[in-house]
Amino acid sequence: MATKPKIAFFDFTSCEGCQLTVIDLLQTHLGLLDLVEIVQFREAMSEKGEDYQIAFIEGSCTRKSDEARLLQIREQASMVVALGACAHLGGINALKNRWTIENVQTYVYGKNGKDAYESYPARPISAVIKVDAVIPGCPIDRYEFLRIVQLILQGRKPRLPDYPLCVECKFKENACLNTLGKPCLGPITRAGCNAICPTYGDGCEGCRGWHPEANFTYMREILRGHGLSDAEIDARFTMFNHYQFQHMGDEAPITTPLSPLKDEPLPTSTFAAPKEA
Ligand code: SF4
Ligand code: SF4
Ligand code: SF4
Repeated sequence: MATKPKIAFFDFTSCEGCQLTVIDLLQTHLGLLDLVEIVQFREAMSEKGEDYQIAFIEGSCTRKSDEARLLQIREQASMVVALGACAHLGGINALKNRWTIENVQTYVYGKNGKDAYESYPARPISAVIKVDAVIPGCPIDRYEFLRIVQLILQGRKPRLPDYPLCVECKFKENACLNTLGKPCLGPITRAGCNAICPTYGDGCEGCRGWHPEANFTYMREILRGHGLSDAEIDARFTMFNHYQFQHMGDEAPITTPLSPLKDEPLPTSTFAAPKEA
C-alpha cells in the first residue's frame, strides 16, 4: 500500500475555531484518515511528529517569535495551507493594528502588560512565508476544506471562487437583505461559503476577503442607504480585512485612519464588569 501523505496542523494567534471545524468534519468524514496520516494536531492529539509534507496553519503572525516558527514549518513542508481568515487575511486580529501596541497591551493585560507579553502588529502568514493555498473564512467551511484537501492530494492547485457571494445567495433563492433593510457585504465578498450568513438572515461581514472586482464605492453607497455613517461603514469593511486596507495605503477606500494614532484610547468594553462579591 502506498505511503499516505503526512499532514500537520499548527496554530498561531487565533480562537482555534478553524481547527475545531476540521475535528468536527472528521466525525462525519473519517474516511479522510484513509488518505492522510495526521502527525501533529495539538487540538486533537498529543503526538507531535515533525515529519510532514503538508502543513495547515491557523492564526495570524502577531509577535516576533512567531516568525522563526513559521519559517521552520515552511522549511519542512512541501505545501503550506493558510487555514481560515486569521492566517489568510490577518482577520480580526489585525483590528489591533489600529492602536499602538503599547496601548493594546495595557488595555488587555493591565499596566505591566507590555513587559509581560510580546506582541506586534498582526499580519497574515503570507507576510512572512510563501503560502501555497488558502482556505478562507471565519471559521472555514468544512466542505471547502474537504474539497481543497482532495485537490491537493490529487496534485491539483486549488482555486477559490473569483465572483461575489451574491451569486451563491441568488442560487439559494434568498431574498436580498440589502433590500430588506439589513446591511450585507455580499456584493464585495468572495463567494465559497454558500452564502451561509444571508441564508440564516444575517448580513455577510466579509470574512472570506474581497473578490477581485469588488466595488467599494458602490458598496459604501448601499450602506449609506441603510443610514450608516462613514465610520460605521469603515468598521464593517475592516472587521476581517484591516490588514488588506492598511497595505493598500492611500488607495484604501476608507475614510478613517487605519494606522495607530499614538494616544488614542481603545474603546470601552461593551461587556459588563463582573459584580463585586
Ligand atoms: S478564522 Fe475565525 S474561527 Fe478561524 S481561528 Fe481565526 S477567529 Fe477563529
Ligand atoms: S443578501 Fe447579501 S449576499 Fe445575498 S444577494 Fe443580498 S447582498 Fe448579496
Ligand atoms: S456569508 Fe460572509 S461573513 Fe458569512 S461566512 Fe460567508 S463570507 Fe463569511
